[in-house]
Amino acid sequence: MGVAELLERIQEPWSSRVINRLARGSGVRENFQTQINRFYDSLIQAIEIGDPAWLDPVILDWATSTTVSDLSEGQKNITAILNQIFTITYETARENLSESDALNLFGTILPLFTYALEKVARIEMETRVSYISKELSDIQKRMEQLDKSKSNFISVAAHELKTPLTLIEGYSAMLRDQNKKGPAGQIDVLIDGVYNGITRLRGIIDDMIDVSLIDNKLLSLNFQPIWLGQLLSLLRTELIGSFATRKQIIDLNKFPGSDQMLFADPERIYQAFRNILTNAVKYTPDGGTISIDGRILPGFIEVTISDTGIGIAPESQDRIFEKFGQLGNISLHSSGKTKFKGGGAGLGLPIAKGIIEAHGGTLWAESPGYDESNFPGSTFHILIPMRTEPPDPKYAKLFGVETELGETK
Ligand code: ADP
Repeated sequence: MGVAELLERIQEPWSSRVINRLARGSGVRENFQTQINRFYDSLIQAIEIGDPAWLDPVILDWATSTTVSDLSEGQKNITAILNQIFTITYETARENLSESDALNLFGTILPLFTYALEKVARIEMETRVSYISKELSDIQKRMEQLDKSKSNFISVAAHELKTPLTLIEGYSAMLRDQNKKGPAGQIDVLIDGVYNGITRLRGIIDDMIDVSLIDNKLLSLNFQPIWLGQLLSLLRTELIGSFATRKQIIDLNKFPGSDQMLFADPERIYQAFRNILTNAVKYTPDGGTISIDGRILPGFIEVTISDTGIGIAPESQDRIFEKFGQLGNISLHSSGKTKFKGGGAGLGLPIAKGIIEAHGGTLWAESPGYDESNFPGSTFHILIPMRTEPPDPKYAKLFGVETELGETK
């Protein structure tokens, strides 16, 4: 007896077993029965003609019918069903056919099932990959939206906070001036406290505004001749008190390029250096050393700010430049500017990066890793284009900035 006939002989018991085992619920069974019969007929055809491709239409229909919920639950539906159908065929043949007929049947249908399984697995994999890629692109879109609303929030919050702050600032300044005219007393300390609080708040709000300007590519640069050595030594003078409090050594080298004139926005470049240098103070223990060095590269001047601090783990060396990308424990947050590991709002580095990039330069961090016992240190590299004249305002938009020199303002 031919294999196709053997298959026809066991069709009845086979199909009732398949339906009992695989289809639950009478509504499902009816449709399933049609599908199963279609599969069985294709199997017989494939055997008669000797071409497994007869199974293709039914396999294709099954494999592409995987629903979104199947995919999101990660079920391997059709492959599993095919496996079960194969097991049932094996059981039914053994129970209903002689041993030699059953063996004969298996010899013929095994390659067909292997063919079907391979095909289904490939289609299912493709369907899953395209589902995952779509999920990923949806997530990316949602993240972009989230980032945009975060940046909008920052901008609105900063502007809202600015108005009452300006009022408090004005009144407390008046209070201070009034008090100076009268006898000195304890009230001085209180007023100074209020004033310090206001100054810090002003710093945070200014940072929020800068971040939103950078995000929206609205940072306006005022290109003027600058000398990096001069800027850095001014900064060292500003922070001399912090180095002293933390007993840190500041080693500012006179490097090639430090006395070279170049065009950049002095205030913004100073701000970027200040953010990086105050971090070096914060994340270096008492008694550590901070070194500033540099060199000339083709088209750029590179400044390096190295410290002997806690270092940065390799996986975090990019993340620290993202908004609110600080790595430390939130409970360690401190409004103190230079306290050891006193994290801030997490905006200092994104602003520094935004400023350097708006100039057409780059900023990155290198460190052997994070270690609070051995202090491997970190080095921040700042590359600033060596402009010997201010950029043409026409090209300023290329950097996503506005210059204060001409038409684009
Ligand atoms: P923060 O206000 O938290 O200092 P920043 O944007 O200035 O925010 O820095 C982001 C994070 O990068 C910090 O919270 C800190 O974890 C890490 N970091 C920055 N500079 C250094 C450094 N010199 N050494 C070690 N970690 C640093």
